[in-house]
Amino acid sequence: MSERLAMSRPKKGASGKTGSWRVFKPVVDKEQCNACGLCAMYCPDAAIDEELEVDLEFCKGCGICARECPKKAITMEREEK
Ligand code: SF4
Ligand code: SF4
Repeated sequence: MSERLAMSRPKKGASGKTGSWRVFKPVVDKEQCNACGLCAMYCPDAAIDEELEVDLEFCKGCGICARECPKKAITMEREEK
């Protein structure tokens, strides 16, 4: 059976570990965050857990979480290489 993406079969890191190609990573400002959970809900790779911690092993840096955050609590910062 071919591998499915997280949207069709939710599980942690369903599309695999990211490796080193990510250019931006999300950084959460806990002071701004109201723990609504939308970022975790929208993350296509299920890389944000119930504690709202981002698992950078799996985060692809797409920025959807930052875009959807109603509190603008997430900024995308360039990766240090
Ligand atoms: S940047 Fe994309 S992959 Fe990473 S936590 Fe946000 S929504 Fe998920
Ligand atoms: S979407 Fe924004 S405010 Fe909501 S839990 Fe995520 S970081 Fe916090």
